[in-house]
Amino acid sequence: MNDLKQLIKTEALRLGFYTCGIARNDSLEEMRPFYTEFVGRNGHAGLEYLKTNMEKRLHPELVLKGTRSVIALLMNYFPPEIIPEKDNFIMAKYAYGTDYHALMRSRMDDLIGVITQSCPQIQAKAFVDSGAVLEKAWARKCGVGWQGKNSLLINKSAGSFFFIGIILTDLELEPDPAETDHCGICSRCVRACPTGALHTPYQLDISRCISYLTIESKEEIPADLKSKLNDRIFGCDICQDVCPYNRLASPHQIPEFLPSKPLIDMRKKDWIAMDESGFDRIFSDSALKRTGFHRLRRGIL
Ligand code: SF4
Ligand code: SF4
Repeated sequence: MNDLKQLIKTEALRLGFYTCGIARNDSLEEMRPFYTEFVGRNGHAGLEYLKTNMEKRLHPELVLKGTRSVIALLMNYFPPEIIPEKDNFIMAKYAYGTDYHALMRSRMDDLIGVITQSCPQIQAKAFVDSGAVLEKAWARKCGVGWQGKNSLLINKSAGSFFFIGIILTDLELEPDPAETDHCGICSRCVRACPTGALHTPYQLDISRCISYLTIESKEEIPADLKSKLNDRIFGCDICQDVCPYNRLASPHQIPEFLPSKPLIDMRKKDWIAMDESGFDRIFSDSALKRTGFHRLRRGIL
């Protein structure tokens, strides 16, 4: 079991993941009160997929029959350079390059391929923001980070600029120790959030979060929050930028996550002048495609 665990961890690093942790599937039943309260107070802010499939989210064996182990993988997206913010609109760093879902999925499938070479009979399935899987809760149990007061997963050695991938498998693996909370008395993120979305630490008020307002929400941005966006048109990194653990972040080395030259060169006047065909040209492989031209334009205006 230990040899296989070591093989998985070595291969994960070779495939470009920053770290990899393993947990035994003993369910996330301890999350039930939190999740029930979250749905009960409409914490999902109309994102209906968040309130469905609670039993599957708490019990991965209902997602993949026979799940015995959960593997969490982190991929670094902290950029080598920040796109200039002067005279510019600001987008979240995770969206600088091509959409991460396909790249993560293909590397996780490669990892599953390596595992099945050693254990051909096993079942394993990869999830990247897909399926009824509570990624951050499992990542904590797998020991690769904890959920901070900004609600994001934080790795003690490298901060929070990570994509999370989860593999469920019926393979029995030696688990790692779960991570504990290292926020301590810090509350920088709570104080820095411009919209008050972290008024209750550890519980993001989605309806006030700039990421939700600029990416997910189909409604007009509420008048009292408009002035607090401070030129952010796609996502928001403020509560990550102020987190002391992100002083430990080191730049990724993944060419696909680098911004294109046209994106680096964009300034406010270019965003304002951009039409739908210009959007399609610049963002053809980007996470911004998900939001689409019209919602992005709403943010710009
Ligand atoms: S992403 Fe921005 S708006 Fe959302 S909680 Fe963090 S600082 Fe607040
Ligand atoms: S800024 Fe401080 S309180 Fe917020 S997530 Fe980071 S360590 Fe935790």
